Amino acid sequence: MIVRVATEIALNKFFDYEVPPQMERLISIGSRVKIPFGHREVLGYVTEVIEKTTLTAPSGEGMLPGTEVPVKLKRIIKVIGEQNLITPKVMALAVWMAGYYCCSVEVALRSLLPKMVCREQEGWKKQLYVRYNQGVPEPDKLTKRQKEVLDFIQQKRELPLTQLTTEMGCTSDIVRRLEKTGKVTLAPLKVLRDPYANLELIPTQPRKLNSAQETALRQIVSAMDAKDRGQVKPFLLFGVTGSGKTEVYLQAIAHALEKGQGAIVLVPEISLTPQTVERFKARFAEGPLRTQVAVLHSHLSDGERHDEWHKIRKGNARIVIGARSAVFAPVDPLGVIIVDEEHEYSYKQESEPRYNARDVAVVRAQKEDTIVVLGSATPSMESYYNAQKGKYTLLTLPHRVDNIKMPGVRIVNMSSEMRMEGVPQFSTMLKEAIRLRLDEHQQVILFLNRRGYATQLQCPACGYVAYCPYCSVALTYHRRECLLKCHICGYQVKAPYNCPECNEPGIRYKGTGTERVEETLAKLFPLARIRRMDTDTLKKKDDYQKILRDFGLGKIDILLGTQMITKGLHFPRVTLVGIINADISLHRPDFRASERTFQLITQVAGRAGRGNEEGEVIVQTFTPWAPAISYARDHDYVSFYEEEIQHRAELFYPPFGRLVLITILSQNEELLQRVAEELRRQIETRVPAEALHSLKGPVPALLERAEGYYRYHIQIQTRKMSVLSRHLFDICQEFRCPEEVNFTVDVDPVNMV
Ligand code: ADP
Ligand code: ZN
Repeated sequence: MIVRVATEIALNKFFDYEVPPQMERLISIGSRVKIPFGHREVLGYVTEVIEKTTLTAPSGEGMLPGTEVPVKLKRIIKVIGEQNLITPKVMALAVWMAGYYCCSVEVALRSLLPKMVCREQEGWKKQLYVRYNQGVPEPDKLTKRQKEVLDFIQQKRELPLTQLTTEMGCTSDIVRRLEKTGKVTLAPLKVLRDPYANLELIPTQPRKLNSAQETALRQIVSAMDAKDRGQVKPFLLFGVTGSGKTEVYLQAIAHALEKGQGAIVLVPEISLTPQTVERFKARFAEGPLRTQVAVLHSHLSDGERHDEWHKIRKGNARIVIGARSAVFAPVDPLGVIIVDEEHEYSYKQESEPRYNARDVAVVRAQKEDTIVVLGSATPSMESYYNAQKGKYTLLTLPHRVDNIKMPGVRIVNMSSEMRMEGVPQFSTMLKEAIRLRLDEHQQVILFLNRRGYATQLQCPACGYVAYCPYCSVALTYHRRECLLKCHICGYQVKAPYNCPECNEPGIRYKGTGTERVEETLAKLFPLARIRRMDTDTLKKKDDYQKILRDFGLGKIDILLGTQMITKGLHFPRVTLVGIINADISLHRPDFRASERTFQLITQVAGRAGRGNEEGEVIVQTFTPWAPAISYARDHDYVSFYEEEIQHRAELFYPPFGRLVLITILSQNEELLQRVAEELRRQIETRVPAEALHSLKGPVPALLERAEGYYRYHIQIQTRKMSVLSRHLFDICQEFRCPEEVNFTVDVDPVNMV
C-alpha cells in the first residue's frame, strides 16, 4: 500500500510513502501519520491512497510527481489515533477550500482539527482510578485502617484515587499497599472534560408548529428524504426575529436522528451562550432520539475541545453546535447542516485560510449529498439574491409566534435635539421612554457600537488630535483608567491634562463611547441598576454569562452594550430597546455599511417585546431618511433589499461580481509601493481577461498604517472566481517578495479596511 502525504513543512508538495503491512488496516484518506522527512520526523495527513508511485527520487526520498521511475519509498513510522482524523469527504472539502480561497492544501487542512487532536501525544486527560477486585480473596493481615479503606473501595467498586484520599482522609501510600495484596488495582482511566457538565437540563418536547413553521419544516424534511439529495438546493429560512426558526431547526434535526444521521448547527461565536446550548441539549436529553450534543467554540480549553471533538468522531454525540470551525466537525453520516444568523460576518475567518463558514457549509452539503438550511431575520444580500435567482429555496416565517407583535420602531432625528451646548446623548423621547419602563419595572437594552469614553481627544486651541504612533487612527479615551488606547494595536498611554502641543488645559473629548453613556445614564437615572457590556468590562471568562444571567433574573434594569448584546438573546421582560447612534455603522467606508446598519437595527430591535408586553424601539440618528434606517423602522427587509441590490449592481459589487482584496504590508513604504506595483503588473498580464472585471490599486488602505506597518490594497472584481483564484495562486507562489514585505489574499472579503 502506498499513500500520498501532505505535510506543513513543504507547502504545495506531496510525498509518497510506503505503508508497512501491519499498519494498512489503520490507514485511509485523512489519517494522521508520522513520517521520515529528510533528517527529521514530521507529521502529515494522508491525502490519497495510490496503487503505484509515479514519483522519482534522487535519494530514495518520497518525491515530487513527475516521472515513471519507480523508487524505493520510505515507510510511514506511525499512525496517530485509532481512526483517520479527517473523513474523506472533509478532505475533499479542504482541497476545494484551497482552490477557492487561494491557499495551499496544507493551510486549508490546518483549520480542520482542534490543536490537541492533531498532536502526536494523546490528548486525553487521565486520572488514576482505584478498582475493587471482586474475585480476589481478601487478605487476612490488614490493619484496621486498611480494612476501612478497603471497605470504602468495595462500596464504590471504582473511584478516582484523589476522591478516595479526600473522602477517607487517607494517604495514597495505604492504597498502594492494598494494591500489593491484589485486592485492588490502580490504573489510569480517561476522564471526559465536559464544559457544560453543570448545565441543568429540563427536557423539552417538540412544540406544535404554526402553519408557516409547518410548511417550512415539511419542505426541509421532504428534501432530507429525497432520493437524489445531491440535487437539492440550499434552503434560506427567512424568518423575522422571534418567528420560531430554532424550533424548525430542532425538528429538522430530530428527523435526521430518526434516520440515523447527525447534524451540524453553526451559530455566531457570540450567541453561543448557555441559553442557546441548553435549548439544543434539553431537546435531545431524553426519549428515543436521545443523544449527546457536542459543543465547539473558542472559549473552551484545548482539552475540552479535544474531548468534544472525539465525542463526535466516535459517534457518541450525533449533534454538534458550534462556531465557525464546527463546519468541519466529523459528523458521519451527516443529515443536515444549519447555519443560523447566516448573514453574520463572524463566519468569516480573518486569518489563513480566510474561509466563510456559511459558504463552506453550502459546499460541504453538496459534497456530502446532504441538506443545508441558512437562517436569518436579515439575510445577507448574497443569500437573498441566490433565493431570488432560484439557486436557493426560500422559506419564509413572516410573523412572530403566538401573534406577538413586532416592536414599534420610532426614529428620532437628532438634528432637532440640538441645544446651545451641542447635541445631547439622549433625546427627550428616549429619556422619557426609559423612565417609563423603569417605573413599570420592565427592562431596557441600549445599544452603542463604540466602546471607550470618547473616540477622539482634540485640543480646541490648536486642533491637536492624539493619534496612535503605530496606526493611522485616533486614540480612544478611556476615562476610568485615564488612558488613551489604540483599538487597532492595543497601544496605550496616560491621557494628558493639557494639550501636549500648546499646553491648553481645556482639552476636549469628542465622539461618545459606551463608557460615557454609562456615566450619563447613572446621572439621569441614579436609582436604576445599570450594567455595561463590552470588551472592556468583560475581563473574566464567564463575565458574559454572568451578566446575562443577572439580566435574566431581573437584577439589572438597563443593559448597555456593543454588538455583543444584539445576538439571539431572549429576555421576555425587555420592552424597550434604544439605539444611541445608528449612524456609526452607516458611515463606515465599506460597500456593506448600509446592509450592516439595517441588520444591526433589526437584530437589536428584535430583542424588544418578546414576552407578553409589547416592545418599543427608539433609534437616534442624524440621517432618518437613509434606507437602512427607514426600512428597518417598517420591518421591511424586502424593500430594503430591492433598493440596495441596485447599488450593488451598478458598482458590480457582490452578489453580482465577486471580490478579492490583496493587502500588502511593510514598514518600508517605498519598497512596499514598488512591490505592490509589480504584483499588480503580474496580475494584469497573467490573469485571463475574462476573470478580471476590474483591477484597482495599489492604493493606501483605509487603515493606512497598523502596528507600524504601512498597508496597501489591490482590489479585484471578477465573475469567474475559480479562474482568478487558480491564477492568483500561481502568481503568489512564484512572486519574488522581498523579506520586508508581506501580502495576504482575501477571497470574498468581509473586512474592507
Ligand atoms: P427565532 O429563532 O426565530 O428568533 P425562537 O425559535 O427563539 O425564534 O422562538 C421564539 C420563542 O417562541 C421561543 O421561546 C420558542 O420556544 C417559542 N416558539 C417557537 N415555536 C413555537 C410554537 N410553534 N408554538 C409556541 N411557541 C413557539
Ligand atoms: Zn495602534
